[in-house]
Amino acid sequence: MANDCIFCKIIDGEIPSETLYQDELVTAFRDIRPVASTHILVIPNAHSSSVTEMGDGDAETLGRIVTVANQLAKQEGVSKSGFRLIVNAGPDAGQVVFHTHFHLIGGRELGPMVAR
Ligand code: 5GP
Ligand code: ZN
Repeated sequence: MANDCIFCKIIDGEIPSETLYQDELVTAFRDIRPVASTHILVIPNAHSSSVTEMGDGDAETLGRIVTVANQLAKQEGVSKSGFRLIVNAGPDAGQVVFHTHFHLIGGRELGPMVAR
């Protein structure tokens, strides 16, 4: 657990969240400011500040994130209609929380992936 990391505090239950899933590797909870009817954050329990710190050594965790995202997409009814799994890393991507997280977003047509 990293000091003063809001997502570490959510994992530990110190900060409340609408948690949808938790196991020994990952936690999933609803984004506090959703951009679509489904907006869930799937995060590794082990703190890393960005996906740039993850790699081969995190294969099990990264695999679990995809498995859980797929399960939640089905549960939310967006698996067939479609969804995005997005990771922001660093300033140009607009990352604001420095605990690695995957956004699962769906429930409406999402438009172009990146504004031109
Ligand atoms: P980023 O821009 O870093 O990729 O995304 C951070 C996300 O975390 C944002 O979508 C923001 O709404 C969400 N977020 C920030 N603080 C909290 C919080 O305390 N609880 C929850 N559930 N989501 C948060
Ligand atoms: Zn953290």
